[in-house]
Amino acid sequence: MRFKHQHKKTELLGSLKGFDKFLSQCVVCQEIGYDPDKLKLKQNRHFQKRARENFNPVKINDIGVCEQCQKHLSKD
Ligand SMILES: [Zn+2]
Repeated sequence: MRFKHQHKKTELLGSLKGFDKFLSQCVVCQEIGYDPDKLKLKQNRHFQKRARENFNPVKINDIGVCEQCQKHLSKD
């Protein structure tokens, strides 16, 4: 089920030109989401709306790991 969900997102990426620049993918959980800081820089309300409707905010660190996974990793 998860695969199907991700596949849908990938199709969506193809339909939104320039969108990939604002998206991050976690190397651990493979979650794709928009980078909230980068999205703020885009002065296009329609673009921002589409991003928020279709993706969750995913902030990744310098090694490509999202905040949620960082929490899990730091527990050990
Ligand atoms: Zn993650």
